[in-house]
Amino acid sequence: MTGVRLVDGTEIPADAVICAVPNSRIHGLLDDLPEHAEIYAAADKLGVTPIVSTNLYLDRPLGTKSAMEALIGGTGVIDEVFDRQRMHHRTPDGAWLYCLTTSGAYKQIHKSNDEIVAEQLALIRRYYPEAAAAKVVHAQVVKMPKATFSQVLGTAGLRPGQRTSVPNLMLAGDWTRTDWSATMESAAQSAERAVRALLAYTPAGDQR
Ligand SMILES: Cc1cc2nc3c(=O)[nH]c(=O)nc-3n(C[C@H](O)[C@H](O)[C@H](O)COP(=O)(O)OP(=O)(O)OC[C@H]3O[C@@H](n4cnc5c(N)ncnc54)[C@H](O)[C@@H]3O)c2cc1C
Repeated sequence: MTGVRLVDGTEIPADAVICAVPNSRIHGLLDDLPEHAEIYAAADKLGVTPIVSTNLYLDRPLGTKSAMEALIGGTGVIDEVFDRQRMHHRTPDGAWLYCLTTSGAYKQIHKSNDEIVAEQLALIRRYYPEAAAAKVVHAQVVKMPKATFSQVLGTAGLRPGQRTSVPNLMLAGDWTRTDWSATMESAAQSAERAVRALLAYTPAGDQR
């Protein structure tokens, strides 16, 4: 490994490289690596999980008790409600902002923004009596079809380690082999392992 070539052709020389792109973006980056087909196949099998978030501005407060509230039974519609007023001392100015998050939004991701907001409002009204007559001032739906890698049963063994057959090229990212699921902790641990492996590597002829 002598460096990285960017899409515009610029080459950045490097003593070592850590490839830390998501599994959904790894294809084509490691073609010169003998084991690239194995890594690409694992990346495909690990798959993706969608997340949908809605920034919902209402004409009145919901009556939340804390900055983050999980909705038990909200799976597939809303998992968590984040109260931005409480989180950031936001001044409502006539519009109270709530961020609604749905992880594993396999069905929701295919719905229209209007459908998503309508079904989320229905759930909000079930959990928060104050929302019964609330009007939507503005709603912004953010769809992330490839938010994280998927963690269905039986996929843990597919996750590639950080080392590659090229001693100064490492893989990192939450989807590589770690003790964690798709989390910041996993990303951090993968980086720690990749860097540790690189520091243990001494290039041939290098007496440092
Ligand atoms: C909506 C949402 C909510 C989440 N909530 C939580 C949470 O509450 N707690 C938690 O622990 N985790 C959460 N996660 C998961 C967490 O964000 C990820 O596990 C973590 O960011 C993974 O880090 P990473 O460095 O592996 O990948 P990423 O953070 O995805 O970084 C990969 C980087 O590679 C870059 N890239 C992609 N392709 C290329 C390319 N060809 N060349 C160069 N660069 C490229 C991307 O631009 C990106 O900067 C959430 C994720 C999402 C999407």
